[in-house]
Amino acid sequence: MRDFERLRNLMVETQLIPRGIKDKRLLDVMRKVPRHLFIPETSWDDAYEDMALPIGENQTISQPYMVAIMTELLELKGDERVLEIGTGSGYQAAILGELAGEVYTIERIEALAHKAKNRLGEMGYTNIYVVIGDGSKGLPEKSPFDRIIITAATPEIPECLKSQLAEGGIIVAPVGQRFSQILIKAKKIKGTFKQEYHTPCIFVPLIGEYGWKE
Ligand code: SAM
Repeated sequence: MRDFERLRNLMVETQLIPRGIKDKRLLDVMRKVPRHLFIPETSWDDAYEDMALPIGENQTISQPYMVAIMTELLELKGDERVLEIGTGSGYQAAILGELAGEVYTIERIEALAHKAKNRLGEMGYTNIYVVIGDGSKGLPEKSPFDRIIITAATPEIPECLKSQLAEGGIIVAPVGQRFSQILIKAKKIKGTFKQEYHTPCIFVPLIGEYGWKE
């Protein structure tokens, strides 16, 4: 029987803290949420390794460090309404659900969305809503959001997502080419966006009306 709790602590100590992740609430949540339950059992040996892993349908669960840095950049205090584009396994949504008030997460692949919804329900999350659809268009009927996180590579941050962000809100997204991006944090201040550029990264593409074509 693997000691997943020990492996999670090791992940935090060796992958997150040395790379500069500092938010205490976030580190506690990364120690708590069972990443292995979001991936196929055949990959459980690698569940807390420093890498993205396949989750079926040609999609991936992001590397733990990428989940941590994107979440830290969102500066969550506890009562925010968050929109995530790209539910995938639901792991990032679970981390957000632990740290924010309400999470809406959109996935375009039905099979993944259903699996994530069931998994999050079984784990007892009642503040995470999984929606099937093209997240590149956002979720205007539930806007404005205090935070938006895009967990798929996008050529640019879609204007419609910017308009669904509340004043003072933050968007975090991997922006760039299809096979290489840079993590961008954009803060909405008096209707304009102040951008910061963070780490280089490689995400699967955002496929949709305001992303790439299939
Ligand atoms: N956040 C996920 C997790 O914790 O497992 C990892 C996300 S995975 C890197 C990217 C996901 O974005 C894939 O599941 C993919 O199907 C989804 N995706 C791509 N384009 C999308 C779109 N337009 N709307 C919603 N989901 C999209």
